[in-house]
Amino acid sequence: MISATSSRESAVREAAAAGIPAALADLGALVRIPSIAWPAFDQEQVVRSAEAVAALVEGTGLFERVEVARAAIPGTDEVGQPAVLAVRRARNGRPTVLLYAHHDVQPPGDEALWGSPPFEPTVRDGRLYGRGAADDKAGIMAHVAALRALKAALGDDIDLGVAMFIEGEEEYGSRSFGQFLSDHADALRADVIVVADSGNWDERTPALTVSLRGNARFTLRVRTLAHASHSGMFGGAVPDAMMATVRLLDSLWNPDGSVAVAGLTAHEADTPDYDEATLRAETGLLDGVSPIGSGSILSRIWYQPSITVTGIDATSVAAASNTLAPEVSVVVSARVAPGQPAQEAYEAIAAHLRAHAPFGADLEFSDVDCGDAFLVDTEGWAATLAREAMHDGFGVPPVDVGVGGSIPFIADLVREFPGAQILVTGVEDPHSRAHSPDESLHLETFRNAVLTEALLLSRLDQRSGESRP
Ligand SMILES: [Zn+2]
Repeated sequence: MISATSSRESAVREAAAAGIPAALADLGALVRIPSIAWPAFDQEQVVRSAEAVAALVEGTGLFERVEVARAAIPGTDEVGQPAVLAVRRARNGRPTVLLYAHHDVQPPGDEALWGSPPFEPTVRDGRLYGRGAADDKAGIMAHVAALRALKAALGDDIDLGVAMFIEGEEEYGSRSFGQFLSDHADALRADVIVVADSGNWDERTPALTVSLRGNARFTLRVRTLAHASHSGMFGGAVPDAMMATVRLLDSLWNPDGSVAVAGLTAHEADTPDYDEATLRAETGLLDGVSPIGSGSILSRIWYQPSITVTGIDATSVAAASNTLAPEVSVVVSARVAPGQPAQEAYEAIAAHLRAHAPFGADLEFSDVDCGDAFLVDTEGWAATLAREAMHDGFGVPPVDVGVGGSIPFIADLVREFPGAQILVTGVEDPHSRAHSPDESLHLETFRNAVLTEALLLSRLDQRSGESRP
């Protein structure tokens, strides 16, 4: 005997599989639009891309309202890039889910490094190549294809509330993101938020992203002299700014390369196996050069803080003369462990630098930029539902993963919708090369991700209000 649930699920499964060719054709059409939000590129393309996405969302037949909208960029008189907003109200006490992705893409970079033109979708060896083919136009199409499958399988018998927010400037700093959320808070409020902008463990194994490190970045100017002097005349009697900077920066790390700043915290959690050989292969670590840090390799990347000097203003090698430099500026970029507010981490690093300023060097901090880390409530019912849907969609159990980088706008989501459970999912795999030449989408991963999301939406649609906390 076939239960109602299993016949419903097989209808959803069949509809999800049947919709893949159309979803890939629509994804190809989106990839052809070079929707780069940087001002140096043709901004009309971002408008075209928003309109194309709005038409796809409208075409699902599920929404009461679909529009292209822009929000102000706080602190400026500019507006952000066009985003797509869609709303369908929940009925009969069912939950509402907010589906997020972004339709802008990274610039293509050097086109000569691509195996096929970046805005010409091309299938090779089971992968679809093109800028945005993975990050994040495939995220948009995973949402659209899952919604189409739901509609095809269940018709009008859907009570789930669905909101969509497809951003147009994620790669360009999400400058109007927070304002967009507050402008449309009523339309976007949801019980569960699916952020489809991350990746999977590998081509076959799904992953739920359960933590993201935060970041704290600032410019530091180190001054020791009011003006430059001849190093032959005064060298050895007064400190030049480079000497002070080198000694100061050195104090940030322990001998093993881990951070030596009091007040920076680490997060405690288990990590999957990942060996040194893989780390060497993926980073190009040179023979004879050792990794840094301690603890499991993934704990160093996901759960511990790190500090990197990413820029320096000093006399260039070509222009070097026998001079004591009066000042040096550096950019210090820290990754903040989940659980610690980014501002607190910045203050710990700044206090450390002040306490370690060699010879009383003058320090000035500017351009401070902080983004908070994120930890998913992994015990929440939505995370449980998502893991089950991944297991059924991919045929293998998912891995909980952390991400060493950050998705700064997640902090905006948490602030605006503190009661929502946030699920960070995605269509990428370790070979997707997002942001690089030859970005690509693994087609089987995409198929499984669409099925996963269709099953998740179908199960959310059956979740009654009483059983929701
Ligand atoms: Zn992205």
